[in-house]
Amino acid sequence: MMQHYLQTKKENKDCILFYRLGDFYELFFDDAKVASKELELTLTGKACGLEERAPMCGVPFHAVDSYLTKLVGRGYKVAICEQTEDPKLAKGIVKREVTRIVTPGTNLNMQSLEETKNNYIMSILYSPDNIGISIADVTTGDYYLTEVDSLREALDEIGKYMPSEIICNESFSVSGVDMEDLRDRMQIFVNQLESRYFDEDSSKKLLMKHFKVSSLIGLGVDDFPNGVVAAGALLQYLIDMQKSDVGNITHIYPYLASKYMLLDSSTRRNLELVETMRDKQKRGTLLWVLDKTKTAMGARTLRSFIEQPLIDRNEILKRQSAVESLVKNVVSREEIREYLGPIYDLERLMSKIIYKTANPRDLLAFRNSISMIPAIKTALLDVQSDAELSALEDNLDALRDIYELIDQAIVEEPPLAIKESGIIKEGFDADIDHFREAGTNGKTWLAEMEESEKEKTGIKNLRIKYSNVFGYSFEVTNSFKDKVPEYFIRKQTLTNCERYTTPELKELEDTILNAQDKLNNLEYEMFCKIRDSIALEIDRIQTTAKAIALLDVYASLAYVAEKNHYVKPSINEKGIINIKEGRHPVVERMLDTSDMFISNDTYLDNKKHCISIITGPNMAGKSTYMRQTALIVLMAQIGSFVPASKADICVVDRIFTRVGASDDLGSGQSTFMVEMNEVANILRNATPNSLLILDEIGRGTSTYDGLAIAWAVTEHISNRKILGAKTLFATHYHELTELEGKMDNVNNYCIAVKENGDDIVFLRKIVKGGADKSYGIQVAKLAGVPDMVIDRAKEIVTELTDNDITEKVQSIARENKNDKKVKVKHYDEVDTHQMSLFDTVTDEDVLKRLQEIDITTLTPMDALNTLYKLQSDLKNRWKS
Ligand code: ATP
Repeated sequence: MMQHYLQTKKENKDCILFYRLGDFYELFFDDAKVASKELELTLTGKACGLEERAPMCGVPFHAVDSYLTKLVGRGYKVAICEQTEDPKLAKGIVKREVTRIVTPGTNLNMQSLEETKNNYIMSILYSPDNIGISIADVTTGDYYLTEVDSLREALDEIGKYMPSEIICNESFSVSGVDMEDLRDRMQIFVNQLESRYFDEDSSKKLLMKHFKVSSLIGLGVDDFPNGVVAAGALLQYLIDMQKSDVGNITHIYPYLASKYMLLDSSTRRNLELVETMRDKQKRGTLLWVLDKTKTAMGARTLRSFIEQPLIDRNEILKRQSAVESLVKNVVSREEIREYLGPIYDLERLMSKIIYKTANPRDLLAFRNSISMIPAIKTALLDVQSDAELSALEDNLDALRDIYELIDQAIVEEPPLAIKESGIIKEGFDADIDHFREAGTNGKTWLAEMEESEKEKTGIKNLRIKYSNVFGYSFEVTNSFKDKVPEYFIRKQTLTNCERYTTPELKELEDTILNAQDKLNNLEYEMFCKIRDSIALEIDRIQTTAKAIALLDVYASLAYVAEKNHYVKPSINEKGIINIKEGRHPVVERMLDTSDMFISNDTYLDNKKHCISIITGPNMAGKSTYMRQTALIVLMAQIGSFVPASKADICVVDRIFTRVGASDDLGSGQSTFMVEMNEVANILRNATPNSLLILDEIGRGTSTYDGLAIAWAVTEHISNRKILGAKTLFATHYHELTELEGKMDNVNNYCIAVKENGDDIVFLRKIVKGGADKSYGIQVAKLAGVPDMVIDRAKEIVTELTDNDITEKVQSIARENKNDKKVKVKHYDEVDTHQMSLFDTVTDEDVLKRLQEIDITTLTPMDALNTLYKLQSDLKNRWKS
C-alpha cells in the first residue's frame, strides 16, 4: 500500500494527498506535517517499511469537505485518492486512484461557497498580439471567453470577476504583472500551467469535442483565437481536476470587454460597488442597497450587473422597461417575489446532479423549487406587456415532467445517505415494492406458501422450518413421506423427518434474506437513474434558471425603486448628464431617516459644463456628491432606476475615480506614487465619453507641486482637443477656482456652510461659485483635537494668510503671461483667451456683484467676508 501511496504522490507532487484507508483519509510524510498544522490534527506515525515511522495524520471521510475547504482556502491544492472497489470484494490490496483534485477555483463543495457570489476560475493566455481570457464557474456552468489588448485591461477583467484562481501560461507570469499583488492582496491562487495546456490545436479540438460541434464557427468564438486557447486550457484543466467531463458546462459565451462599461479596480473599490473599502463588507455598498433578490441565482446575477454596467443604449432600455413594468404592476411583482422565495439555487443543484453528488433531499428541493414556476408564469402574464419580460416568460419551462418524476418517485422525508433504503415511494417501481414487502411481509408469504403446499400435496402437517445453516425448508414427517411430490428437492434428513425445498421456496428465501440488501441496492440504482435522467435535461433547466435569475433581478430593482423613491432615468445620446435632486443611494440609506439626506443637482456635458471644480469645507459632502453622481450614472447603465427626482443620463464608456490618499505599502508604493499612478491611468485611458471623479489631486506632496499638478491636470482634461471628459473635481486648492471663466468649460461649485461664530453648520447644498476657506480648523475642533492645538493652528493660519499662496500663484502667472513661451509650451492649440489664466476682474464685475448682494439676508460675518473679497479683487486688479 505504501508503494502505491508513494507512486500516487509522485504523480501528484504539487498536491496534498488525501489517501483513503477505510473510514479515514490519511496523510503521510510532509503532507501530514503541513495538514496537522493547518488543520490542527494530531500528528502520529505509521510503520511503513522505512527505518523511521512515517509521520501521519487523518480525517474521517464523512467530514472531509470542511477540511478540504480549509486547506484549499489557504492556497493548497488537494488530491483525493479514493478506494475504487468494494473492500469486501477486493482480492489483495484494495484498488485506489485519484478521483478529483481540488483547488480554489474547482471546489465543488457548495456549502463552503458563498451563495450569492460566483466562484470563478480564470485562464489567461498572454501572447505578443493580445491576451486571451476565459472564465468559468464549475458550480453553475457559466463559461465565457474574450480577448483584451493590454495587461491593464486584463487586470480590469480580473477586478471584474475576482476569480479565486487564475491559470496562466508562462509568458503571463513574466509579463510584469504584479503576481505578489494578485496572490497576497487579491487573494487569488495563481497557477502557471505547462505549455501543453495552451496548445492551439488541442484547445480547438477539445472545445469541438466538448460541445459536439464540427467547427468553432458554430460556437461564435472563431473571432477570438487566443480566447479559444485560453478556454481550451481552462476546460482541460477542469477535466483534469474533476476527473469528469464537466457536463454542466453546456455553453460558451464569447464577449467583448468593450461591450461593458470599463471600471478599473481602484474605481470599483472607491465606489464601493460590492464591498466596502474598509471592512470588505456588503453592508454599505451599492449591492447592499439594490439587492432585494429572493434567490441565490438572482443575487449572483445582480452582482454581475453591478460589476459590468452596459454601454449599449438599447440593452439598457430593454432592462429599464422590464423594471418599469414591474414597478407599475406592484401586485404581480410582489406575487412573483413571493413565488421566487422558496426557489433554491437551481444552477448549483444542477451541478450537483451532473457531478452525481445530489442526494434525495436535493431532488426534493429541486422539485419544490420548480413547483413555483407555473405560478410565476401566470403572474408574469398579468404584468403589462413588455418584450423582455415576455421573452423571460417564454424561457421559463415549467419542467412538469421533472416535477412529476421526482414527486412520484421520492418520499417526502428521505434519509440523507443515498445508500440507505427509504428513498423511493411505494408504487413507483414493482421490484422495489416487492423487496420492501419482503422485509415486512415475509412471514405472511411463508404462511401462505405453507398453506397452499399443504393443500396441493395433502401433507396435513407440512411445516416451513428455518435453520441458520440450511435456511427455509418444508419439513415432512416420515408418516407422510409417500406424499412428497416430485418437485420437492431433498435438503436434509433428520431422525423423524425429511426437509425439502422448492424453486419457489428458494426464491422466497432469497427474497426474504436478501430483501434489505437488495432493497438498498435497488433504491440506490433507481435514485441514480432518476438523477441521471434529470441530468439529461440540463439545457432546459439552465435556461429556466437563467430566466428565474433575471426575473429576480428585475423584480428586486423594481422593488427597491419603489421603496426608495427612485425614478426612471432617460438615456440620451447628447453627452449630457442632468440629474435633478440626486441622492447618494447608500449614504441616504445609512442615515436615520432618508429625508435627512440633502439632494443636489448635477449638470455636466461636453460643452460649457465639462468640468465642475468643487470646493467647500472638509466634511461638507464633496465626496458624497461626486460619488453619488458616479453611482447614479452607473445605476442607470445597469438598467436600474435612480435616486433623483429626474435624471437624463448619457451613456459613459468608463468611470474613473481618484479618491483620497491610500497607501499601498504592500506593493512598495508611497501614497503620492499611488495617487500619481491613478492620475496617469486616468489621463492615458479616459475618452471624451468618460466620467471622471477626482477627489483631490496633488495633496500628497508639497503645496506648490501639488497645486501645479492639479492645475495642469485640469487644463489637460478641459482641453477638448486633448480630452474634454466630463469631470467632477473636488479640491481644497481654492486657487483652482481661478480657472472658471478662463476656460470656457470649467465651472465652480461649492458646498454651502453657515458660519456661526467659531462654528460651522453644514448645509450640504451645492451652489454656484467657489469657496474661499476650508474650515479645516473648525472641523478639527469638531473632531475633538485639543483646544491648545486648535488655538495655535489659528495663530499660524493668520500668519500664513498674509502670505497667501493665491497671491504667489497669481504673481507667477503674471510673470508667465509676459513669457508666452513657458505658458503655451504644451497647449499652443488652446486659444489665448483660455490661456490668460489670471485675468483680473473689471470695475463692472465688482459693481455688478455689489448690486446683486441681498443685504436683508446677509449676516455680519458674510458682509465682512464679501467686503474683504471685493476689496482684494480690486487690489489684485490694480496690482496687475
Ligand atoms: P473632506 O473634504 O474632508 O474629504 P467631504 O466634503 O468630501 O470632506 P464627505 O465625506 O462627502 O465630505 O461627507 C461627510 C459626511 O457628511 C458624510 O459621511 C455624510 O454622512 C454627510 N453628508 C454628505 N453629504 C450629505 C448630504 N447631501 N446630505 C446629508 N448628509 C450628507
